Amino acid sequence: MTATDGDSPEITDEVVLARYPHVRLDHLNKHFYRVLLGHRLLAGHCDQCDQWHTPLRPRCPHCWSEAVTPRPVRGRGAVYLLTLLHQGPPSPDMDYSTPWPLAAVELVEQLGLRVTATIVECPPERLRIGLPVELTWILRDGAPWPAFRPAEEESDVEA
Ligand SMILES: [Zn+2]
Repeated sequence: MTATDGDSPEITDEVVLARYPHVRLDHLNKHFYRVLLGHRLLAGHCDQCDQWHTPLRPRCPHCWSEAVTPRPVRGRGAVYLLTLLHQGPPSPDMDYSTPWPLAAVELVEQLGLRVTATIVECPPERLRIGLPVELTWILRDGAPWPAFRPAEEESDVEA
């Protein structure tokens, strides 16, 4: 993979495996998880048709080109789909005493480009479809994971 994915060569596959022991890593998604350690979120980008996709794929799902490159996304979007989990897998960092929001967030890069993550720093009454959100990071089992929080309203205005 090229440098455009925000890659950190000093982070070896062994480090990624050790930090994300419960993830089934392969030669494609290891790039995604490695850059999570540096707080970057990747999506696949096709150099042929200029379309984005998630998760990372060896071939563009839009035009089937193999000229796909993982690229960091800006980390801004809106809640597209929202699920409130009342129970889930036990984990030291998970608290289900209040419903745990799991959202599909549509990213600003492209219509239909979505990532799944939890929503944090948001009172339950503010949670809604269409809520503008921005990327932030949470720790789970000592490793960083992407999450989203309500976007600052003033930063919605492009300079
Ligand atoms: Zn394509």
